[in-house]
Amino acid sequence: MNSTNEDNEHRHNEEEKEGAGEEPVVEITDHGCTGRNAFSYANGRIPASVLCPLPQPGERLRADAAEAFIELDGAYREEFGRPMCVADSYRPYHVQVRLFREMLPGMAARPGTSQHGLGLAVDLCGGVNRLGTVEHEWMLANAPDHGWHNPHWARGGFEPWHWEFSA
Ligand SMILES: [Zn+2]
Repeated sequence: MNSTNEDNEHRHNEEEKEGAGEEPVVEITDHGCTGRNAFSYANGRIPASVLCPLPQPGERLRADAAEAFIELDGAYREEFGRPMCVADSYRPYHVQVRLFREMLPGMAARPGTSQHGLGLAVDLCGGVNRLGTVEHEWMLANAPDHGWHNPHWARGGFEPWHWEFSA
């Protein structure tokens, strides 16, 4: 137990050091987020301060993806009377490594290749995560208008919850 705690603490300290060394100079956008410089960071290495918060607490995406998602979320709220349910969004590198180790083969992207690591993917819940629900059908029909897609590899019941942004 002790070694696990120490590991976590160590990792946490490393992250703080990384962030402190390279504070980017960025513009403040309408949403108060500073997304432009996200392009200059490697997969899973984007500081939280560079990503944009979603209305769903704790969830963040690259600025352009966040803006499009907030629009889509607004349309979803109008249709269903509640916000979209977001289970996961930006995923740091060390979390990608952990998932890759824990998940069955093929169920998580190789670390450093996930669209989650670029702040361009969300995993959704609240019905969207299941094929054939009204929420999933609505997303298939409406999300592409906002640049969001359930990619082909995720279709057919493989990962109905996984949606990616492409400008
Ligand atoms: Zn996903």
